[in-house]
Amino acid sequence: MAEHESQEFGKADFVLLDSVSLEEFMANLKLRFEKGRIYTYIGEVVVSVNPYRAMNIYGRDTIEQYKGRELYERPPHLFAIADAAYKAMKRRNKDTCIVISGESGAGKTEASKYIMQYIAAITNPGQRAEVERVKNMLLKSNCVLEAFGNAKTNRNDNSSRFGKYMDINFDFKGDPIGGHINNYLLEKSRVIFQQEGERSFHSFYQVLIVLLIHSVPSFSPPQSSINDGADFKAVADAMKVIGFTPDEIQTVYKVLATILHLGNLTFGVDGDTTLIENSKVVAVIGVLLATKEENVGKALLYRTVATGRDVIDKQHTTQEASYGRDALAKAMYERMFCWIVGRINDVIEVKNYDAKVHGKNTVIGVLDIYGFEIFQNNSFEQFCINYCNEKLQQLFIQLVLRQEQEEYQREGIPWKHIDYFNNQIIVDLVELQHKGIFSVLDEACMTVGKVTDEVFLQGLNSKLAKHAHYTSRKLSPTDKSLEFDRDFRIRHYAGDVVYSVVGFIDKNKDTLFQDFKRLLYNSSNPVLKMMWPEGKLSITEVTKRPLTAATLFKNSMIALVENLACKEPYYVRCIKPNDVKSPLLFEYERCRHQVEYLGLLENVRVRRAGFANRQEYPRFLQRYKMISEFTWPNHDLPSDKEAVKRLVQGCGFEHDVAYGKTKVFVRTPRTLFCLEEQRDEMV
Ligand code: ADP
Ligand code: MG
Repeated sequence: MAEHESQEFGKADFVLLDSVSLEEFMANLKLRFEKGRIYTYIGEVVVSVNPYRAMNIYGRDTIEQYKGRELYERPPHLFAIADAAYKAMKRRNKDTCIVISGESGAGKTEASKYIMQYIAAITNPGQRAEVERVKNMLLKSNCVLEAFGNAKTNRNDNSSRFGKYMDINFDFKGDPIGGHINNYLLEKSRVIFQQEGERSFHSFYQVLIVLLIHSVPSFSPPQSSINDGADFKAVADAMKVIGFTPDEIQTVYKVLATILHLGNLTFGVDGDTTLIENSKVVAVIGVLLATKEENVGKALLYRTVATGRDVIDKQHTTQEASYGRDALAKAMYERMFCWIVGRINDVIEVKNYDAKVHGKNTVIGVLDIYGFEIFQNNSFEQFCINYCNEKLQQLFIQLVLRQEQEEYQREGIPWKHIDYFNNQIIVDLVELQHKGIFSVLDEACMTVGKVTDEVFLQGLNSKLAKHAHYTSRKLSPTDKSLEFDRDFRIRHYAGDVVYSVVGFIDKNKDTLFQDFKRLLYNSSNPVLKMMWPEGKLSITEVTKRPLTAATLFKNSMIALVENLACKEPYYVRCIKPNDVKSPLLFEYERCRHQVEYLGLLENVRVRRAGFANRQEYPRFLQRYKMISEFTWPNHDLPSDKEAVKRLVQGCGFEHDVAYGKTKVFVRTPRTLFCLEEQRDEMV
């Protein structure tokens, strides 16, 4: 029997708290964490606290315990949510999604992997070879994406530096037949710069360590939590299994090597001429990119510009040349990453599915995307990431309330509204046409002539001076948290964040000189050429201004939210217990802050105002009929609804139950747990 409520392990569902207060919530969360109970429900939401140690709760036996069960029948677990999403998909033909949120290091990616493993484990009982192939691809894709998209940061040794949304498609039998991955905003600036104590993407170290091991027999890798050598092999194997050709894999290594060499490239001047100081590097890059050395040199030092009918080569200053070099390194990495995702999608995409023959193809989506970030220095990347979290919070508000309200209405049950802090105002502050921060930024970037970050900041100050969630040093000169003239501050739903305006313009324009695109397109390596189709255009053909980074990101977020909104959502809310990766430490303040901004307390209130559980009459009867003499073994009442009424009356739960058109609604989980206990005594 599940320990739903006990002195020892606390309440398995926060809805069971004696009263809803932050103190009680925190006490329960802390108690459960300390007792190794890392999962707790709020109704159908799983709250998870990162245990920072291996837990023996993900094995085959545990999977068997959760398979096909209802949420409240077993202790809280990710598997239960995965099963609920799977059942909704299979029984009711619903597209569902599992949204995993929480800050960096809170355990989102691990959770997404356990969920995928669970789904893989419970499907395909018939062992169909094609389904096994698809499952294997889906699981293997993780390993490849982590190598290229994850890095060690000060918060997390394996931090995802991109957002990921993965759809798994199922056939009418409920077996996976394919999938699709969407990736969001890779933090490509990491390629050229890392904070102290952090690393670039894992892929670089994996390649380097293997080269070292091969060329220096006595070399032994440093001890750390990351085993680059072993990971290299796993990634190479996974790429092979997924179907990357040897040429493709070689090209990936060459791109990595090129980026490493670009990092060594420096520029100097001789009179009026800008030159490359270490020209040997250029020769190496030429070989790696399968292009002429002189073309590499030229692309690094000159820019071809069309002036009227003439085309001239304009020499870079050393500063421009350095900017171009860094932009090239970042763009090559990002492009390669997107290409890898595309190649994986080619392989896992559902092919030859005929809905007329096979019935509806349904989907479970899993979203693992960067959590809210507050760093010492917050820039454009943090701004985008935090905007993404505002969007997801807004979705949570809408779906959690909407879902509840719609069901009560459908079933004819009255409903009392609960107030939330509605963060739509902050979403608007960022994304509104003409008035929002992204618009002001794009406008600044369009300005002819020299545009500076300061111009952008002035634009913000003049447009947003009166906005309750925006301020800046200029507008609040005495505010201590705004230390520099370049600072502005947003009051996010999760807290105040001070952003430095420095770099916003450059990062938003995200300029890569055309010369580089042509250079890469003209490579005689066909794989590389394929990554750079727009290099085909000659200088006089390039007319359209590419969309800015902010606009691209905004559009991708709007599309993501639309996609999630039409699915039945399940939530995992991850909490990071401390900043030192300790399995023992529950930093109270830190956790309290997360509980607050995730809106968990309001979530509990909504659940309590509503009904914890609802089940269709026949199903409810099926499970509990043995506990009532009126219904066991069979009832002679006019309907299942009537039978359920008798059963409930007999147990004395009348006050805690409402009868909808097709379902019985149970207000508190306690009633359900009592029913479960009585049932246990019978069987
Ligand atoms: P996020 O994706 O939220 O940034 P991760 O999922 O990468 O965080 O988790 C960070 C680290 O925390 C992992 O590398 C692992 O060491 C630990 N961790 C997270 N979840 C679990 C878990 N369920 N069991 C054991 N360790 C975990
Ligand atoms: Mg992650």
